[in-house]
Amino acid sequence: LRRVLGGSGSTQISSTARAFSSAPAPIKATLFPGDGIGPEIAVSVKQVFQAAEVPIEWEEHYVGDQIDPRTQSFLTWESLESVRRNRVGLKGPMATPVGKGHRSLNLTLRKELNLYANVRPCYSLPGYKTRYDNVDLVTIRENTEGEYSGLEHQVVRGVVESLKIITRQASLRVAEYAFHFAKTHGRERVSAIHKANIMQKTDGLFLKCCREVAEKYPEITYEEVVIDNCCMMLVKNPALFDVLVMPNLYGDIISDLCAGLVGGLGLTASCNIGEAGIALAEAVHGSAPDIAGKNLANPTALLLSAVTMLRHLELYDKAERIQDAILNTIAEGKYRTADLGGSSSTTDFTKAICGHL
Ligand code: NAD
Repeated sequence: LRRVLGGSGSTQISSTARAFSSAPAPIKATLFPGDGIGPEIAVSVKQVFQAAEVPIEWEEHYVGDQIDPRTQSFLTWESLESVRRNRVGLKGPMATPVGKGHRSLNLTLRKELNLYANVRPCYSLPGYKTRYDNVDLVTIRENTEGEYSGLEHQVVRGVVESLKIITRQASLRVAEYAFHFAKTHGRERVSAIHKANIMQKTDGLFLKCCREVAEKYPEITYEEVVIDNCCMMLVKNPALFDVLVMPNLYGDIISDLCAGLVGGLGLTASCNIGEAGIALAEAVHGSAPDIAGKNLANPTALLLSAVTMLRHLELYDKAERIQDAILNTIAEGKYRTADLGGSSSTTDFTKAICGHL
């Protein structure tokens, strides 16, 4: 598990963390509690961090109730500045209305902060039984373009068009991140996931870029897998995969599938990596409106995301201690939230984790 998201981020952040490791001044990090279950699980993270004496001072920012003209979004200019300044943060889920309304807050964050790679580790949790006990893979999703370009319009009545954008620059950047990640985390294989047999130009360019980068990493095995076959292989034998790199939409879908292999969305963490060493951790799941405000949400995914943030800051001892406490609580089985078949509330489960620190 230590192979998952070690401090592969910025040297600037690392040196800041090192400077603080012997000094009492806390490291500032931005926190977006987000929507739906977001505020409830953000409280869990704050409580566990406090109990583990993590030297972090949160700068909390909420999504505004009107559009900030400086960002053209409900995200305030101050909140974006906070991430740019701190270079590290944790984000709760943010809801997006379907088919209408404002520009997705997640899209705005990714574009404004240039969060180009979304890294989603997915592994079987010791002591929590699913159909598989050998999952240990990482999906790396291109995070800024593809079908998420936001370029959609009506051509004529009854015909709409949505543009999928793939650029050489963004494809090389995410491929480079994936191979570097594999190399620095003791991983052996990178699989590029695509549909280039149909999307010949767009996915074709993505693959060309992956091949180009693969040549620089002869020690890493490189393969290309068509997305439909990838889904079948993942469900049949997830141990076939190690690091998977893919365009935006495929990453969104495949990583939810992977979450399902190990116990669901309540468990899976992610971290968005941006240029200038920005790391914004977030759970894979959304705002879960069906259980929001009921003290039922599983905070594990956000907590494990916060652990990736600690590793990015090279606070390894704190990261291991918190991760062990979470995994031990789940493995013990006495306190589990409903998504894992238990009957604990978010607050009781959080207390149990604090008790395992
Ligand atoms: P969702 O992930 O919110 O929920 C899917 C299912 O998983 C629900 O049954 C929910 O109860 C369950 N679930 C999710 N997280 C859980 C947790 N921590 N503990 C227990 N159960 C959990 O997906 P959705 O319903 O499709 O989306 C709801 C909203 O979230 C939408 O507005 C969507 O746009 C947004 N969303 C945001 C993000 C993000 O901020 N990164 C990601 C995905 C979806």
